[in-house]
Amino acid sequence: MKKTTFLFTCLLSTILFAQNKQEQVLEQLDQNTQAYGEIAHKIWSFAEMGYQEEQSVALLQKTLKEEDFTIEAGVAGMPTAFIASYGSGKPVIAVLGEYDALPGLSQKAVAHKESNGGVAGHACGHHLFGTASAAAAISIKHYLDNTGTSGTIRFYGCPAEEGGSGKVYLTRAGLFDDVDAVINWHPGNSNGADPGAALANKSAKFRFHGIDAHAAGAPEKGRSALDGVEAMNYMVNMMREHVPEDTRIHYVITDGGKAPNVVPDFAEVYYYARHTTRDVLIDVFDRMVKAAEGAALGTGTTMDYEMIGGTHELLPNLTLQKLMYDNLKEVGGYTYTPEEREFAEDIAKSLNTDLDVKNVEGISEYNPIPEAGGSTDVGDVSFTVPTVGLYTATWVPGTPAHSWQAVAAGGTSIGTKGMMVAAKTMAKTGMDLFDQPEILKAAWTEFEEKRGEDFKYIPLLGDREPALDYRN
Ligand SMILES: [Zn+2]
Repeated sequence: MKKTTFLFTCLLSTILFAQNKQEQVLEQLDQNTQAYGEIAHKIWSFAEMGYQEEQSVALLQKTLKEEDFTIEAGVAGMPTAFIASYGSGKPVIAVLGEYDALPGLSQKAVAHKESNGGVAGHACGHHLFGTASAAAAISIKHYLDNTGTSGTIRFYGCPAEEGGSGKVYLTRAGLFDDVDAVINWHPGNSNGADPGAALANKSAKFRFHGIDAHAAGAPEKGRSALDGVEAMNYMVNMMREHVPEDTRIHYVITDGGKAPNVVPDFAEVYYYARHTTRDVLIDVFDRMVKAAEGAALGTGTTMDYEMIGGTHELLPNLTLQKLMYDNLKEVGGYTYTPEEREFAEDIAKSLNTDLDVKNVEGISEYNPIPEAGGSTDVGDVSFTVPTVGLYTATWVPGTPAHSWQAVAAGGTSIGTKGMMVAAKTMAKTGMDLFDQPEILKAAWTEFEEKRGEDFKYIPLLGDREPALDYRN
């Protein structure tokens, strides 16, 4: 009896000790809001596109190095990919960070559309993504130090999420193979931690080669590469009627010739295909390739294509997700200052919507089966390691990603406040994973069950090297 009481008291004091230390770490993180806000704002100003994120990476590496993280730079053949590591041995917990901007979306931090004078903008909030993740990794490091806990915390610097599939190359290179759990987040217009959903995605540039000629003087000598593109588009558009309902196909003609009086000898069309499951997607994509081959045959041109991106759908892990959700509820949302409120009202007006501050101050209800809209290269990671995520209100409620309104809010204190909700929730989740190995164990059981016994990781973009120049 006495022994039981003694053990119980020991256990209780261990839990209280851990809780107390966690609170200290989170308080310290909170006190650093301004410093992290400044880092995020710098990356927002750099607004560097995929595989060009040199300044953003240098700043994040410097921040992590100052906290005694060891940096492995330029991993998996990508100069702007890196791994920052602290500690040693198991478990290994990883936090993902992104930092690429989107072309054509330069925008000032104001509540009306106005270019910042650049070529790109952080319309997906990846400046906040990278910074909050670095902040979480640093906080977890403090926790390991303060409590004498053993294990490794890593920050993965993941370039070119927007179409460059950076994480696919990190996964393919085996850089997640010894990781026990992966934590990540994404900026958004409310606070929530549902199991993620994403569409598997394959993208490629189809290039047609013809014969140039005077379009009026000697048209019979020419073979139009643009005809090849148009014939392919026509066939793919007819195909839409005969693909599974949830398929998404979209394209842009990236080169259609230069002048109407010259039969173009080169034309290019850039395609995305997506579906909730990658097996369906692979089939749809193969049929698109057949359409391209048929188009070339019929127009007397030749065709080749280059895979640009390819990502898996997301494999959710409910064990980890529940932990993240509980932690998010504990961290809670935030409130606007009068100035932030005024800015938010103006942004809401520009979106023809009423401002609903519930999305900022509260936490969205747990939705066990969210619908997939976009795609993410986190998908490939989630099939390699149990992966958990959340989203927070870094944008004014109602704001769609990839809009000027997202760039604008991300450049203000609203972005910083939302980012800190994410940083704290991820830090807390990471600390819990070090404290409670039984959660990791349950997460792995669920992961292996869901992934299936004969799962083999096959990257959808094949064996190509990273498309380092895809934004040039
Ligand atoms: Zn994004």
